Amino acid sequence: MGTKRVPRKDIAVLGGSGSVRRFLESFFSESRSYRPRYFKEAGTFLKYLHETPPAAVIAAEPLLSAVADKITRYPVAAIITGDIETGIEAAINAHVKCYLYKPYFNLDLEHKLEAIILEKDLIVRMENELRELEEIAELTRFVSATLDPREVLYRIVRKIADIMPVTRCSIIKVDWLNRSAFVVASFEDPRIAGLKLSLKKYPEIMEALSSKKPVVIHDINTDPLMKRVRKIILPLGIRSILVIPIFFRDRVIGTLFLRTSRSQHAFSQNEIRLLNTIAGASANSLHNAFLFEQVEDEKSRLEKLAITDYLTGIYNVRFFYHRIIEEFSRAQRYGLPICCLMVDIDHFKRVNDIYGHRIGDDVLREFALLLKKHTRQSDVLARYGGEEFIILLPQTARDGALAEAERIRKYIKQHRFRSLKNKGGVTVSGGLSVFPNARIKSHDDLISLADKALFTAKNRGRDQVAVFGE
Ligand code: GH3
Ligand code: MG
Ligand code: MG
Repeated sequence: MGTKRVPRKDIAVLGGSGSVRRFLESFFSESRSYRPRYFKEAGTFLKYLHETPPAAVIAAEPLLSAVADKITRYPVAAIITGDIETGIEAAINAHVKCYLYKPYFNLDLEHKLEAIILEKDLIVRMENELRELEEIAELTRFVSATLDPREVLYRIVRKIADIMPVTRCSIIKVDWLNRSAFVVASFEDPRIAGLKLSLKKYPEIMEALSSKKPVVIHDINTDPLMKRVRKIILPLGIRSILVIPIFFRDRVIGTLFLRTSRSQHAFSQNEIRLLNTIAGASANSLHNAFLFEQVEDEKSRLEKLAITDYLTGIYNVRFFYHRIIEEFSRAQRYGLPICCLMVDIDHFKRVNDIYGHRIGDDVLREFALLLKKHTRQSDVLARYGGEEFIILLPQTARDGALAEAERIRKYIKQHRFRSLKNKGGVTVSGGLSVFPNARIKSHDDLISLADKALFTAKNRGRDQVAVFGE
């Protein structure tokens, strides 16, 4: 230790003359640890304090009392010059705990300076840690105060970037099932949230996942783990990487992922410890973000279910109503044609009677798929009920709609149903309503006139399409 040169610490000395000054000069001339800066008056002394904060202050009366409330942030040693009792009183009044009085000894000052500087260091460290802990506490408070865990995770990465100088900071979620990882929150760019990472390109994340321990890459240039990917990362200006696993009940569900352009002391032990705590605080949110997404998936599954016909998988009548209201008002507003085609399987009761209800169901499913295949993307197909289906043809006039209806009818007629023995088939009747039409004032009219036309087609002998009013 003795061979290593430690830079001397600056000590600001205020006041003191005669024997005091001689003592201090002899002290500093022998000291290897400290370097004095002498001041005779408070003004220049305070200016210096402000510009180049010293390691400690030595002050003698009467100037000590004059600056007492301006030096509370520094370790201070008071030099008592005159009457000892009065001097101690003055030091106590100036809130200075450390003082020397005659006779002065070098060893005494040396020891006391060391003690007050050490004490101050300790206090600063504790204050910093307290501040960091408060930041984490604030984060966890936020966790319970907000509903969207992804927002929480974003706040966490932002906070980390506040506390330490990182170039990039993200929270990665691991998808064990698919052996991939996703960025769930990212400080550098909120838009990359959701980005899928190929773990092959991130050996450091893989390592953290398999070892379940923090991974520190001090220098990408030299770390053997990064050999394969060095060329890709270096141009990004990144030198050091830190990956901290995030656990939820013993399972690694994600990682904190920090990168910096620093290579010297990129991540200190203290920072790693702090980040571990933050990782712990993020675990719940990250887990909830999973749940949140599951709930979202479930929600969209339910929404889909609510508009789907359970037997055939095509839209149900509820969805059809929703769409016909929209499309009909659009047609009215812009004077566009719109048609509605009602399709009903002929003598379907017989299919049930001959083959049974189960086979009847299969035929309905196959029938629905056929219709789906033969309707245009812009048309809306739904099961209207039983063996009746309905197709909305927006922006389609009579001739076009009739042609499509005929096309569907003929296609069904020649189709051999898999579920029917001897490759049996069915025929359909269709009823078409066409808007604009004097009798059609609402979307309900559009449907009921299609139904009436269907009745006409049945009456005319089935296996045909009737247009309402013709
Ligand atoms: P047409 O329309 O040509 O006048 O004769 P149809 O026999 O098809 O007419 P109807 O409306 O009298 O009978 C419809 C039959 O469709 C009655 C019912 O057994 C059958 N059906 C309705 N919904 C289902 C279903 O979900 N599954 C099965 N298997 N059959 C159904
Ligand atoms: Mg029928
Ligand atoms: Mg029917």
